[in-house]
Amino acid sequence: MHKLFKPFIDLIAPPLCILCENPVKDKLICVNCENEIDRNLAIKKNFCLKCGGIFEGNRCPRCRDTKFSFEFNRSVYIYDGKVKQIVEDFKYNKFKKLSDFIAGRMQELLAREYPKIHVLIPIPIHPTRKRERGFSQTELIAKKLSSLTGINCDCENLIRIKHTKSQATLTRKERKSNLKDAFKLIEPSRFRNQNVLLIDDVMTTGITMNEAAKILKKHGARVYTITFAIAFYQNL
Ligand SMILES: [Zn+2]
Ligand SMILES: [Zn+2]
Repeated sequence: MHKLFKPFIDLIAPPLCILCENPVKDKLICVNCENEIDRNLAIKKNFCLKCGGIFEGNRCPRCRDTKFSFEFNRSVYIYDGKVKQIVEDFKYNKFKKLSDFIAGRMQELLAREYPKIHVLIPIPIHPTRKRERGFSQTELIAKKLSSLTGINCDCENLIRIKHTKSQATLTRKERKSNLKDAFKLIEPSRFRNQNVLLIDDVMTTGITMNEAAKILKKHGARVYTITFAIAFYQNL
């Protein structure tokens, strides 16, 4: 479109916030919605130092059920309300530009909470699923985060070799066996002695992240993980 016409088009149909549909300028999410979701920043709550999840009482249920191989996980938001909507809108391809917002928030968390990271690795989806969906949402986030931070991103080495059933319908026990040997490293020695950051959009039980972390750790990497959101843990 010619530059001159753009303001007229915007007058007729101003862009709308994807969350509340109020008019917004040059952004996908309006200031009100941003303020609202920022009240759900996970690290502003009582969170677990290992998995980054929110819990009450004195023992984190997620960490009680799974012994994690990563050093620690942190997540930007609690997976609830409008944050859920962001993740779904992004995953189902409606607003790929959301990767800017998601990676931006992750960059802030990375700078505040983590030691020096040498390489970013997105949790891969199986090639069949990637074909169905047309893209890998974690890869988009990782690449964006790489361009924001200057940290190298490796999307080639960690691959998914098992086309697993959707985790959502499975019990915790089934999830563990469903994911066993799901990942493989093409060049196993590549990450030896490196601080690796695994990236995913949402952490639920943490089992997927843990399976990927295990194989990297086994080959000598120190593994940290980050997600955009973390779900309340339910004993499934
Ligand atoms: Zn809004
Ligand atoms: Zn925990």
